[in-house]
Amino acid sequence: MAWVTGQQLRLYNSLGRRLEDFTPSADVVGLYSCGPTVYSYQHLGNMRPYVFADTLRRALRWKGVPVRAVVNITDVGHAVADSDTGEDKLEVAAAKERRSVEEIAEFYAQDWLAALAALNVQPADVYPRASEYVEQMIAFAVRLEELGYTYQLPTGLYFDTSKSPGYGTLALLDLAGQRETGRVEHVEGRKQASDFALWRAEEPGVRRVMRWNSPWGWGAPGWHLECSVMSMALLGEHFDIHTGGIDHRELHHVNEIAQSEAYLGDGRPWVRYWLHNEFILLDAQKIAKSAGHTLRLADLVEAGYHPMAYRLFLLGGHYRSQLDFTFTAMDAAQATLRRLVSRVAPLRPLPRVETLADARALLGAPAAAAAGVTADAPVTHGAPVDDKAALAYVEAVDAAIANDLATPKLLATLQEALRDPDITAEGLKIVVATADALLGLRLADLDPAEVDQRRPTDDLTPEQVAAIERLIAERTQARKEKNWSRADEIRGELDALGVQVTDTPTGPTWQLR
Ligand SMILES: [Zn+2]
Repeated sequence: MAWVTGQQLRLYNSLGRRLEDFTPSADVVGLYSCGPTVYSYQHLGNMRPYVFADTLRRALRWKGVPVRAVVNITDVGHAVADSDTGEDKLEVAAAKERRSVEEIAEFYAQDWLAALAALNVQPADVYPRASEYVEQMIAFAVRLEELGYTYQLPTGLYFDTSKSPGYGTLALLDLAGQRETGRVEHVEGRKQASDFALWRAEEPGVRRVMRWNSPWGWGAPGWHLECSVMSMALLGEHFDIHTGGIDHRELHHVNEIAQSEAYLGDGRPWVRYWLHNEFILLDAQKIAKSAGHTLRLADLVEAGYHPMAYRLFLLGGHYRSQLDFTFTAMDAAQATLRRLVSRVAPLRPLPRVETLADARALLGAPAAAAAGVTADAPVTHGAPVDDKAALAYVEAVDAAIANDLATPKLLATLQEALRDPDITAEGLKIVVATADALLGLRLADLDPAEVDQRRPTDDLTPEQVAAIERLIAERTQARKEKNWSRADEIRGELDALGVQVTDTPTGPTWQLR
């Protein structure tokens, strides 16, 4: 079995809400991450789960643990408002945009994949699409029906959560004190508010665009079913890690667990580790005003930010902490990235480091020193670098990532090494390559000139310049009148337009971010 070198990797398991040692249960760790519903663009906050899962994947690789990663693409089954009845998100989008559901799904899936690539997220091994697994979903629901876990209503086939003894453990729910959240709509005949649709029957007189025949009539699968079915199909019945946004912890993942453990019926937990990332708080009002849609990565790039600056912004916070997205924070991230890249560029080429064993071997340390187990020695060229300081930084990086993926600490360690007068140039190269194996900021090849791009002001029309200057004059006037709320409001508007105002003794100046 692959083994973990260095500090024991500890991860926060939502199941039990505690830090736990991570131990792989198989030679290849199965990692399933809930993917997007491809009916619209993914906003900035929606990208966090994938950067987080990518960090986890890098951490496992660092520890010498092979991973098989699966991320689903939901192209059918996700009803508007995450409910059990009503229209499918894809069909609503298709009608609105006058395109076919296939075109909608393909367009937004490709846009999302391009954003992942721009963020240097390693591609998953498989991106299964829900629409390709409907037959398996039907078979899964048939099995649940045979086992007595379901009941049928005119609106579809429902999972009876009262039959699931551990229902809601992940969300810390107890079935007796049943929740009635805003997300759960009233369904005629449903026994418990927590019961959910495995199959959504076509409403009388309504013919869905995406429809399949089933033992419960024409219709479409329920939203939760796909993840159980596709993960088991691609990773085996049990696998090690399931990730997703924290919003999934309370409903979607609760239901995935209930139906999967009912289906398997072996008394074992379906998945051993459940990891959830916190939200990004976007200043929605401000952003909606300017762009007319939710802010996404393409908007940041348009405004002159490098995608790696957004990745750096994300890694600057721990995945279990909420992060406030602001342009001020993005400016800081872009400036940090620019400094990092210009500091690192003269050190190139960097050595190839993917694992702790790689880094230790380059520094002449035994590959598996701490764990006392054998690991394949990586092939190195030339004599090892004798640098105790560098080795200490490599171990510090290892300790940071092993501590529930503490990326802020990892970044701080990298910065410290870059300032350290006692480290050798060769040692520093290894430390930078080590940190970037986990951070994925493309420190080995990012062109400093690429990071420096700013949107030139000569792209603006004279009318746009006049409008910006009018706002700035209004703000100056509001400040003169001590109308601070109005001044702040205008600053917010300018901020949303990507205009950065600096107050100087001779009056305000501005530039585009
Ligand atoms: Zn899912």
